Amino acid sequence: MGVRDPLHAPGRPGWTCLACGDGWPCVQRKEQIRELTAGDQVLMSIYMRTYLGDACVDLSHLAVEQVKERLMGWVTPCPL
Ligand SMILES: [Zn+2]
Repeated sequence: MGVRDPLHAPGRPGWTCLACGDGWPCVQRKEQIRELTAGDQVLMSIYMRTYLGDACVDLSHLAVEQVKERLMGWVTPCPL
């Protein structure tokens, strides 16, 4: 393997990070997404929204608002 950081991908259905084991999105993944989108809030929202449906299904024991906050609350301002 190279020297690149591992992809901090979400492990389903628990939504813990496959690389570091933190709750997803972990700090490292948020940094990766910021780099990926050059810090564009709209792109970050769109990117995170692609995970929202799956997360709501897997984390059905949580309120939708909680899942939304976890995935998108760190992207400000949240347009939803
Ligand atoms: Zn991680």
